[in-house]
Amino acid sequence: MTILQAKPASSAGSMTPVEVGNNFSDLHPPYSTLQAMAESNRCLYCYDAPCVTACPTSIDIPSFIRKISTGNPDGAAKTILSANILGGTCARACPTEVLCEQACVRNVAEDTAVEIGSLQRYAVDHRMARTDLPHPFKRAALSGKQIAVVGAGPAGLSCAHRAAMLGHDVTIFESRPKAGGLNEYGLAAYKMTDDFAQREVEFLLGIGGIRIEHGKALGRDLNLQSLRDSYDAVFVGVGLGASNDLGLPGESFDGIDDAIRFIEQLRQTEPKSNMPVGNNVIVIGGGNTAIDAAVQAKRLGAEEVTLVYRRGPEHMSATEFEQELAKINGVIVRYWAMPVAIKANGKLIGMAFEKTELRDGKLTGTGETFEIRADQILKAIGQKIKTDDLAGMEIAGGKIVVDENYQTTAPGIFAGGDCIKSGEDLTVQAVEDGKCAAHAIDAFLKNA
Ligand code: SF4
Repeated sequence: MTILQAKPASSAGSMTPVEVGNNFSDLHPPYSTLQAMAESNRCLYCYDAPCVTACPTSIDIPSFIRKISTGNPDGAAKTILSANILGGTCARACPTEVLCEQACVRNVAEDTAVEIGSLQRYAVDHRMARTDLPHPFKRAALSGKQIAVVGAGPAGLSCAHRAAMLGHDVTIFESRPKAGGLNEYGLAAYKMTDDFAQREVEFLLGIGGIRIEHGKALGRDLNLQSLRDSYDAVFVGVGLGASNDLGLPGESFDGIDDAIRFIEQLRQTEPKSNMPVGNNVIVIGGGNTAIDAAVQAKRLGAEEVTLVYRRGPEHMSATEFEQELAKINGVIVRYWAMPVAIKANGKLIGMAFEKTELRDGKLTGTGETFEIRADQILKAIGQKIKTDDLAGMEIAGGKIVVDENYQTTAPGIFAGGDCIKSGEDLTVQAVEDGKCAAHAIDAFLKNA
């Protein structure tokens, strides 16, 4: 067995607050008007644009880019927001390199995709700064129908906004003190600077007809049947709950935590230098949450951060951009290894791993082990839904079962976002689910 890391605990927390603050400044600084104009002129305004097909919310990308190029950023924002009311967050957090920008026809030899995400951010930010203008969308004639939305994350907010536009009144029930879901609590801080998630919620609520009740959790303060009895329709956008466990003895040891909880705590900590972080941090997982946790631990001042993934880089769900981000931030990435034991001597000292390989297509341990020293271990190996709060609904593969109209097996109760299986667990997919579910609810109410 090899001890891979033996560096002394050092300087976590030794950075000045200013240095830590600088590490959490905007990952992609916004475009100036000049930059936006120049980049918009690279668009070929393709007929049957492949970038539109690649966007889960089908934003009319050539149309909004053309509006930017003609000096109409507010018109561009309206085009974006009419398809994706959380287009500001998606411009910051979407893996555009595997969505719209991957499909861009400019991706030919010696050229690069039009930077659609940066252009989208430019337009939406410009519009959101126009506080002198009314909300860009008007409500239809009021229907007198009441809709309950459970969860103020991207799916719930998107559903609420579209339902309000269609003339219904909406009450959102949210367990946490702030709305936004993963936009507020789950994305890396350097992607969502300047309290953007809250500013976006305020903007969205500008349509009117939406009320948010905080401190209301499904299973604790609410149950779906009583909501269904009190409202004309219900939308469930609760996301996913607890993280999966490693299944190793000692997992509740001090210093071992879920990566999503670490990210959540960091998002709510100001200044960021007040956030505790270990000297030697291990992050286990291969998704964007694992990368977000690892990079942020490093930027907080952890001396050594090692991300361990049981398969190869090509199998990671984190995009190439995110994997590169980890490396340029000094995160050590170890592929083909799985955790087999937590090491402690009164306090957490590390973790033992077994190397892995694919044998006949099956992931198998090779028998060769090694250890990595750690005083903090963050688990990012997926989350599971809290099924006990969802009585009366069919669950399959850890997700709520819905039909093509987002209708669950409980009549009048619809669902969307990460709690259903509709595509990748991305903000943009949740927004699409919420929007489409609102139209399905509207049709359901009209036929009731
Ligand atoms: Fe413009 Fe690229 Fe979309 Fe074509 S594929 S419309 S060039 S952004």
